[in-house]
Amino acid sequence: FKLKEDDFQFICELGTGAGGTVHKVLHTPTNRIMAKKVIGFILGGDENEREKSEKGILRELKVLRSCESQYIVEFYGAFSNIGDISICMEYIDLGSFDKILKKLGTIPEDIVAKITVSVLKGLKYLYDEKNIVHRDIKPSNILLNSKGEVKIADFGVSKEIVNGTMARTFTGTQGYLAPERVCEGRIHSIESDIWSVGLTMMELATGRFPFPPEGHAPLPSILDLLKYIEMEPAPSLPTGKFSKNFENFVSRCLIKDPDQRPKPKDLLNDSFCIRVENESLAQWADDIKSNFIFSQDCGLPNQNKVVVDQA
Ligand code: ATP
Ligand code: MG
Repeated sequence: FKLKEDDFQFICELGTGAGGTVHKVLHTPTNRIMAKKVIGFILGGDENEREKSEKGILRELKVLRSCESQYIVEFYGAFSNIGDISICMEYIDLGSFDKILKKLGTIPEDIVAKITVSVLKGLKYLYDEKNIVHRDIKPSNILLNSKGEVKIADFGVSKEIVNGTMARTFTGTQGYLAPERVCEGRIHSIESDIWSVGLTMMELATGRFPFPPEGHAPLPSILDLLKYIEMEPAPSLPTGKFSKNFENFVSRCLIKDPDQRPKPKDLLNDSFCIRVENESLAQWADDIKSNFIFSQDCGLPNQNKVVVDQA
């Protein structure tokens, strides 16, 4: 089905990131709800150049069409419209983990373990089957639906999109970048994704981005942060608050030398993952759903958490 701008009805905004804005939309010809991300980065310039660049991006995005995994947000298609690129994907009703985390404060360790298993399976699929590395693993790119399925989104198949959004990310706050990317300018590898998995799971469990570590002076600029990532020991979970399994798992993800860092398949065999491998998040997702108000037309949790009184 060829997607085009006229066929979409706006429902509501789902969020805005450094790279673009995501809308919940109805695709009228198919009557399907979708999430549509608009990236508006092709600025001015020569008409021909712009067209070439758009075509190139759309070509690069085609590989997404062939991605079929329960751990990956489904891609429906992309099109360009007056300098913008629209990427249409599966709408995931409970949203991303940055928002879920904001509501909950922290996420219990065994839930984090189950999230980890799905993320690693998604990364393994992309890497083994499609030869794609993700490049941007962080809580906002990991989503949850009300069936309890965890899926990853926004992987960097397009160099131009990655460069465009990365440049903007750097004016932002957080760095999930692996040390080898910071200091050696190495190209992003599957090992760099694993570093980001380690930081992300720490953040979900502790409720705080791991840099700077607790008790350390603030890192006021992005440059300070990058210097810290390069020079200082990797962060670790606070001792005594989590299982040894989890502490050990995080420290494996955050081995600073990328050549020593494990791959998704190694980590899926880590006892942190094995323990929960076949457990479902359905019940937990259900609880999340019933403990938040979901605005009717949008399906995103509202600002105010409502505690459902069971008594
Ligand atoms: P960044 O631009 O730095 O990657 P981000 O991931 O938050 O940050 P976007 O990818 O533009 O930015 O997404 C914005 C928000 O839209 C996300 O935080 C997420 O909550 C929501 N969102 C993205 N994709 C979907 C989807 N497929 N289904 C439901 N919500 C989504
Ligand atoms: Mg995103």
